[in-house]
Amino acid sequence: MQQYLLESLHELQLHLSRSRQFFQVVDDDGDPHWQYVEPGEFHPMTHNMPLSSAKSFFFAEQEPLYVFDGQFFRETLPEPEPFVLFGVLSCDLMAIHYQDIFFEQDPYYQARRQRALLVGIDCVHPCQEGFCYLVNAGPGVRDETADLILHPLSDGNWLLVAVTAMGKESLKGLPLVQATPHDISLRWDDLSHCEQQFEDHSYISTGINKLNADDMSASFWQDVGVQCLGCSGCTTLCPTCSCYGTQSLQIDQVPNNSTQESSAIQGSLAGQDCQLGQDQPVSQQVRFWDSCLYEGFQREASFHNPAEQAGERVKRFWYHKFSDDFLPEFGRYGCVGCGRCERTCPGVIGVHSIMKRIVNDA
Ligand code: SF4
Ligand code: SF4
Repeated sequence: MQQYLLESLHELQLHLSRSRQFFQVVDDDGDPHWQYVEPGEFHPMTHNMPLSSAKSFFFAEQEPLYVFDGQFFRETLPEPEPFVLFGVLSCDLMAIHYQDIFFEQDPYYQARRQRALLVGIDCVHPCQEGFCYLVNAGPGVRDETADLILHPLSDGNWLLVAVTAMGKESLKGLPLVQATPHDISLRWDDLSHCEQQFEDHSYISTGINKLNADDMSASFWQDVGVQCLGCSGCTTLCPTCSCYGTQSLQIDQVPNNSTQESSAIQGSLAGQDCQLGQDQPVSQQVRFWDSCLYEGFQREASFHNPAEQAGERVKRFWYHKFSDDFLPEFGRYGCVGCGRCERTCPGVIGVHSIMKRIVNDA
């Protein structure tokens, strides 16, 4: 691992943006969000968490899996330009790491993922709803989740850690100054201090234990389910949620707001690429984000629905986030402690609310 000291981020940003499309979190108006940035037009780094995580960079909200031109099925694998996500928070990096495991064999996800350089940023102050430290996802960026790590030092300088071979390669040609052992030790001091500043979240640990022991009253999930509106806010914003559905669409049914790739597919079908006859049926199989909180998510063709009641669906969601049953597969819980579900749920059954309720359930 190589570690460097930077006086500013500008040269690093400029250097990386010469060979990759550059994305960073922009927070000009109190609404932090991921945005493409032209080289040289970089925004100040922010620790403010974007409401939408980076998951859609890899797991597209909607994309075609293949098209049928009346004669042949044609592959629609994305071919993105190399890109850099500059300043990904530790919890969101852990979520990408989690999704890397889930989508390990998924060529659509991997086609994007393999083009990405991930530059993480350590948190030095707790965020409002976050509890990353409790679920091994922060506040310091974990080495296995990023190519490069940035740490803001209190004197205004930055510590830059090159973790992976891709990260080291990306720095080639950039004049760099080695960090001293003192600089490096400051990082660990800052992170330790940050962890101590989090408020007491012991109710979350207690709630996880009770959930795994199924130690709640018989009507608990049914009572909670009454508050779920099935809006899918939680599953849309949760950076580890990965449920999807597929649907066959006639090409003229593809919505105008479809993804860049599917628009490209539409364009090529409307043109000559597939040499279509005018009357030939043309369709595409589309994958889209689904939600386990939707009433029909688990409904079978026979119309049998193992999760007909909202309470069963809410229980399933939280089981997937905190059950010990998933530890062998993922090596961790399915929650990275970002707190987005708490921020978004109109039914007040985000992570903090549900855990307090589990703990207080007699
Ligand atoms: S749990 Fe909350 S955010 Fe999730 S679907 Fe239900 S109401 Fe919406
Ligand atoms: S369950 Fe909530 S706190 Fe946990 S990762 Fe998902 S959105 Fe974040």
